[in-house]
Amino acid sequence: MSWRQFTWAALLVAALLLGACDTEPPVTSRTFLAFGTLVEVTIVGTEPKQAEQAIGQVQQEFEYMHRTWQPWDASALARMNMLLTTGAWFSAAPSVLPLLQQAAELERASGGRFNPAIGKLIKLWGFDESDQPTAQPPPKDEIASLVAAKPSLADIEIDGIRVRSTNPAVALDFGAFAKGYGVDRTIELLRRHGIENAIINAGGDLRAIGSHGDRAWRIGIRAPRGGGILAAVEISGDQSVFTSGDYERFFEFQGQRYHHILDPATGYPARGLTSVTVMTREGARADAAATALFVAGPDHWRQVAADMGVERVMVVLADGSVQMTARMAEHMHFEQDPPPQTTVVSTP
Ligand code: AMP
Ligand code: MG
Repeated sequence: MSWRQFTWAALLVAALLLGACDTEPPVTSRTFLAFGTLVEVTIVGTEPKQAEQAIGQVQQEFEYMHRTWQPWDASALARMNMLLTTGAWFSAAPSVLPLLQQAAELERASGGRFNPAIGKLIKLWGFDESDQPTAQPPPKDEIASLVAAKPSLADIEIDGIRVRSTNPAVALDFGAFAKGYGVDRTIELLRRHGIENAIINAGGDLRAIGSHGDRAWRIGIRAPRGGGILAAVEISGDQSVFTSGDYERFFEFQGQRYHHILDPATGYPARGLTSVTVMTREGARADAAATALFVAGPDHWRQVAADMGVERVMVVLADGSVQMTARMAEHMHFEQDPPPQTTVVSTP
C-alpha cells in the first residue's frame, strides 16, 4: 500500500468511527440503595441532563417507598400494623391503599400462596428485611397458632381511605411485592418525563422499556447454587423479570436450609424449588407471581401461573434441573456449559 492509499484508508476508518460515535445514543446510569438492595437505573437515548433529573426523582421515590413500607420500624406501615390488631376503623396511609388493593387481588388469584398478611409469621422467623434471621426455627406451637389464625388481606375492610381488620392476626409485609410495585411506579414516572428506553433493576428484579439502542436488553438470571449466571434473557418492548430464590435470605440448622419464602398453609419455608423466574409486563404481578409459584412448588406452579395470568415462567428444581414454559423458552439462553437438564412444559 502506498502512503497515499494508506492516508485515504486511515481517513476512511476515522470517518467510519466518528460516524459510529455520532449514532451511539447517550447512556445515563446511576446506582443507589433501596429495599435492602442496589437499584440501578439506566436511561438510553435521552439527553444526559434530562436523564439525570429523572433518575433523581426515581431515587427519591424509591427512598420514600422504602421508608413508608417497612413493616415494623417507625413507618406508616408499622403504624397500620399496630392499628390493624385493634379491629377499629382508622385512616390508612394514602400510599399504602393502592398497594393493598392490588396485592389483595393477587393474593386471591394465587390461592393465598402469595399472602402479604402473614407479617407476624415472617417476623417470628426473623425474615423481615429489618431483622436478622433467627439461628434456628421458631417454636412449633407459635408457628401453628399463627397459621391457624389464617390472616389474609381479605380480612381487611376498606371504606374510602378508612380501613379495619376483622382478624387481629393480620400484619402487612410487602417484602414479596414492594419492589415490583415500585418499579411499575418509577417506570411510569420516567414515561412522564418522555423517556422511552430505560431499565430499572433492583438487585436482579427489573422492568425495562424500549431497547438499548439497536439491541435488546440482556438480563442475567443467577444460578441458585452459585457459579454465576444460569441463563440470560433478551427483552425489548415493555417487560418485567422477577426471580424468587431460596438463596436470598436463609440460615442452616441441623443440615437443613431454612429460607425466607414461607408457605402460609404450613408456616414453614416452601420446599421443592430453588428458584422461580417470571417474565410479564407489570412488575407487581411478576413479583407476586414469582413468590406464589415458589410456594406452589413443582406440582402446582403451572396451575398457579395460569390462575395469576403469567405465561413466561422458568423454575429450577432442587436437583438442579429446569422446567420452563414454551413462551419463556423463546427468550432464554443458557450460559452454563453443559446446560442444565431442561423440560419445556405447557401450562393449563
Ligand atoms: P420475594 O423475594 O419476592 O419472593 O419475597 C420474599 C419476602 O416476602 C420475604 O423476605 C418475606 O418478607 C415475604 N414473604 C415470605 N413468604 C411470603 C408469602 N408466602 N407471601 C407473601 N410474602 C412473603
Ligand atoms: Mg416476589
